[in-house]
Amino acid sequence: YFISHKKDVYEDYDFDPVPLGQGNFGIVYKGTEKSTGEVRAIKQINVDDIKGGKQTNSDTNLSNDPFADKAKTMYKNFINELTSLKTLDHPNIIKLFEVYENDNAVYLVQEYCDQGELFEYVAEKECLTEKEAAHFFQQMVSAIIYCHKNRICHRDLKPENFMLSKRGDELVVKLIDFGISRSYFKIDCERGAQILRMQSYAGTTPYMAPEIFKRNYSNSCDTWSLGVILYILLSGYTPFGGDNDEEIKERILELDYDFDDECWTDVSQSSKDLISCCLEEETKRITPKEALNHPWFDEAIQETKAANEMLCERLKNFQNCTKLRKTILCFLAAKSSDQDLKEEIELFNQIDTNKDGYITLKEMKKALSKIPSIDPDKIEEI
Ligand code: ATP
Repeated sequence: YFISHKKDVYEDYDFDPVPLGQGNFGIVYKGTEKSTGEVRAIKQINVDDIKGGKQTNSDTNLSNDPFADKAKTMYKNFINELTSLKTLDHPNIIKLFEVYENDNAVYLVQEYCDQGELFEYVAEKECLTEKEAAHFFQQMVSAIIYCHKNRICHRDLKPENFMLSKRGDELVVKLIDFGISRSYFKIDCERGAQILRMQSYAGTTPYMAPEIFKRNYSNSCDTWSLGVILYILLSGYTPFGGDNDEEIKERILELDYDFDDECWTDVSQSSKDLISCCLEEETKRITPKEALNHPWFDEAIQETKAANEMLCERLKNFQNCTKLRKTILCFLAAKSSDQDLKEEIELFNQIDTNKDGYITLKEMKKALSKIPSIDPDKIEEI
């Protein structure tokens, strides 16, 4: 797997038994380096999951049907994450320290974020000011400016992929999960350096730029996702909601979002302007550098307005919903064969939400009961 073989990871690190988190592509553990006492986040990717994926030479990142070839997708994700993280070195991007491999798994030893997920932290707060939001958002934009300077497009910017670390009194934002990131630069003998447009379907629907659905896009898709994230950070709900991916996609393609909800009444015009500049069609969209120079940052820093307490309540709901969704999807991914998984996730996505877009427990149980491979007696447990 292009990795220099190292000693057994368990010889060098003590693993905490309870994982920090689990995604579709690996389990992340907290590990302590025995010789130095340094704490790290170690992502474990099972070799069985990526075995066979190496055989393919296809350059499309995710195919039309992302469940068609799980090993290929997992292998590509792993290589993407490894390649991007090896290239990048920035205070707002997670650092990759080393890689281990044994017969069973590959381990990516990364910088540990001791404050957990950014949105979780914000949701736990009593209130959030625009000044604080600007402080976090500035760091997110800086991470993307740096990625793009290195011609890497992240392609999966979403709240769950921003973590927090404490450095002294400062909270530092860290971008994680480069599994579907991609280099969009190539040097051609005849034509020299070339910036490439991307075609493959990649991302998480509510955060995807409209041009991704048309399969012809540039690194500017990251700026769109940043706009979606800022919208959520200031309101606690997503700009492009819907009952299923198809509905969400339609709204994105029509740029159908607004600031009509009463929760926007006290939010600055300047922040709405920045969001609008990010949620533009590709040719009119602001660049991350321009975003960083937007007057909102200066205005927010001088802001003395009272904090928005309701916002944290809404962000808490948003977080709970995201977590629940992720847990269920991981559960399904772990227990299903590829075709089953596709059908089950489709069923899962048909569930109704309440007026704010949140899934009620009742709806969740109803949705789970529709999934054939789930034992009805296990639903309560799930
Ligand atoms: P996905 O399914 O979203 O692609 P993944 O399998 O690629 O996920 P990550 O998103 O990288 O995995 O990590 C899964 C979870 O592990 C994160 O949501 C987070 O809670 C935790 N985590 C990841 N990296 C770190 C870190 N450096 N420090 C602390 N916790 C982390």
